[in-house]
Amino acid sequence: MDTGSEHAPLTLDLGEDYPEIRDSVRRVCADFPGSYWRDLDQREAYPGEFVQAMTDSGFLAALIPEEYGGAGLPLRAAGVVLEEIHASGGNAAAAHAQMYTMGTLLRHGSPAQKARYLPAIARGELRLQAFGVTEPGTGSDTTRLKTRAVRDGDTYVINGQKVWTSRALYSDLMLLLARTTPLDQVAKRTEGLSVFLVDMREAVGHGMSIRPIHAMINHNTTEVFFDNLRIPADSLIGDEGKGLRCILDGMNAERILISHESLGDAKWFIRTAVKYANERVVFDRPIGKNQGIQFPIARAYAQTRAAELVLRSAAAMFEHALPCGEQANLSKLLTAEAAWEAAEACMQTHGGFAYAREYDIERKWREARVQRTAPISTNLILSYLAEHVLGLPRSY
Ligand SMILES: Cc1cc2nc3c(=O)[nH]c(=O)nc-3n(C[C@H](O)[C@H](O)[C@H](O)COP(=O)(O)OP(=O)(O)OC[C@H]3O[C@@H](n4cnc5c(N)ncnc54)[C@H](O)[C@@H]3O)c2cc1C
Repeated sequence: MDTGSEHAPLTLDLGEDYPEIRDSVRRVCADFPGSYWRDLDQREAYPGEFVQAMTDSGFLAALIPEEYGGAGLPLRAAGVVLEEIHASGGNAAAAHAQMYTMGTLLRHGSPAQKARYLPAIARGELRLQAFGVTEPGTGSDTTRLKTRAVRDGDTYVINGQKVWTSRALYSDLMLLLARTTPLDQVAKRTEGLSVFLVDMREAVGHGMSIRPIHAMINHNTTEVFFDNLRIPADSLIGDEGKGLRCILDGMNAERILISHESLGDAKWFIRTAVKYANERVVFDRPIGKNQGIQFPIARAYAQTRAAELVLRSAAAMFEHALPCGEQANLSKLLTAEAAWEAAEACMQTHGGFAYAREYDIERKWREARVQRTAPISTNLILSYLAEHVLGLPRSY
């Protein structure tokens, strides 16, 4: 029976689009092998060198229009960047928020705000990596969030707390969702929320404090406390009270982008599992000869291909400005499940060695799991599909 090297290399492409981008991302990622990510993971450290390399290559400015110094690429191209990072064994979490928070500033920021921030972000001089929505007391029930922003002359005064605000210690700017009109004074609970671009360089130590959360994965996530933080009134993005809309219409983009990370994870797990199944000999034959080993990998592959098709249709619909809430949510659900299935198959294929850190499987396995919880959990996606696609009654 032949083994690994005699097999055709595994290709999961559907005719790979953006080959030049894929190639350059792969080349950047080649300088950041598994040992780099393992070391950071153990130290809970931020991948500063990797983020700098991605910034220098222009990838983090992929979605910034050319007039502001970015590459002005379609969402799919940015997704391909994230996919390739994950397929290489790395993790894009340290940098991806810059891509998906960008939409709020691009679509709803004033010309002055865009001119002030976007070129500096594109040049890598300013980091827009923090996104403060989730709160400890209200979780998925976003409209009940309690952080208040009260207008006082030329400023807003902010009080409250956010949780799971990732990268806050490594960002200059934070996109913050806060309530400007109390819940009991609005006609609809989706009203009265506003979005702000907070300059954290001025805020930290003057009403904003940040505390790291030690998490299961190295995500540089934090709790952020606001204690009479005063920010200039022109930090408001869009209209006061209409902030949820500004954030929500970026959600499809966020889901599509993050789905690419899961897709990259699934590809990494499948390639890694196939390679090992072909190489590892037990009972005088490669373990990959056993259907008990083959079938979980083949099933994960099938799920991955199906999820990839849905994801590509979601990205295409987004690009054509077609309503794509269903496709974006389906992509998020299916790619996260495909990655999880592939992670499990890869774990099982590696037997005990899956637990040895140097194989990177346990790290990638932990990292892939988060996509079933954040930025939106599986149940909330299913609720969306049930209510908005299938016409079932709202359950909450
Ligand atoms: C590593 C990590 C990074 C994160 N980064 C950020 C970030 O940068 N910025 C940010 O704002 N947030 C961030 N989050 C928060 C993330 O978006 C939330 O954890 C997620 O939205 C779920 O909210 P919750 O944890 O409060 O869960 P809860 O809302 O408390 O829900 C707990 C469970 O109950 C389920 N549930 C709740 N209500 C219903 C219902 N009506 N029907 C069915 N099931 C229900 C949920 O699906 C979930 O499984 C991050 C989280 C993690 C883990």
